[in-house]
Amino acid sequence: MQIFTTKHDLKDALAPSRAEGKSIGLVPTMGALHEGHFSLIRQALMHNHIVVVSLFVNPTQFGENEDFSTYPRTLEDDCAMLEKLGVHAVFAPTAGEMYDSTIEQMNAVDGGLSRTRIVPGDIAQKYEGALRPIHFSGVCLVINKLFNIVRPDRAYFGEKDYQQVAIVRQMVADLDIPVEISACPIERDDSGLALSSRNRYLTPAQRKQATCLYEAIVLAQSDVAKGRTNSADIIKDVVSYLTNRCPEEFKIGYVAIVDTVTLEPLAAITNEARLLISVELNGVHLIDNAQLCA
Ligand code: AMP
Repeated sequence: MQIFTTKHDLKDALAPSRAEGKSIGLVPTMGALHEGHFSLIRQALMHNHIVVVSLFVNPTQFGENEDFSTYPRTLEDDCAMLEKLGVHAVFAPTAGEMYDSTIEQMNAVDGGLSRTRIVPGDIAQKYEGALRPIHFSGVCLVINKLFNIVRPDRAYFGEKDYQQVAIVRQMVADLDIPVEISACPIERDDSGLALSSRNRYLTPAQRKQATCLYEAIVLAQSDVAKGRTNSADIIKDVVSYLTNRCPEEFKIGYVAIVDTVTLEPLAAITNEARLLISVELNGVHLIDNAQLCA
């Protein structure tokens, strides 16, 4: 496995494989890897000759008061695990390399406004986008850059970040980016908690509390299985479950039932209904989601 820190070296290394007609799979990550990431990587390894994993805590997708500086960075451990998995190349640039200047330099000039931005459509304004206004624009920017640097045939994303996958699909369609997007199911621990690098911020007691996201999903699914079809009723159930379970340290960001593809709210349950939940637990931002019909 080769580890690249510059765009130039990575591009050079991939060129011969591409010329030989080998397929390239890309798994973009922010590192602090866990089984959720590995499931994407295993898919990529199954379907491509070459797999590139990027490890980059992207500053442009973090708001001012978010956890950019404290986000876990575990490069050595990550690389050791990626090597074991059989990944071919790791791309771990600095922010300066990725953006051709440090964020401080960009901001010192004009707040970064002279730079090209990617403005995703309405699909990015709600849910996570409403809570984190610059987040998806930053995600789209870095994903675009990674696509241009790696030029992958396929790129792998987790349904854990359900809105992100929908936005990336939309961007790829709208901008005619020649890449196939693959969405992989959510990996959970034994308690049902969706794996996330941010779970490292939680104490064991908080981790236990955080399982109420999954319990709320199961509750909504059982509501639907019992024949309930009114989204507002189900949302009410979920909200009251979450509030009762964790009245003190919990802040609900949103609970929504949406169409799987458009992410528009659904008044009534259909086969395409997806439940999206976001909460803050002691300042830690947690999200989860699931299909409501089996
Ligand atoms: P991140 O490092 O958090 O930016 O995540 C990198 C990729 O891994 C994203 O496409 C995530 O959706 C995906 N991912 C993160 N956690 C999980 C999980 N528990 N199950 C499946 N995919 C995940």
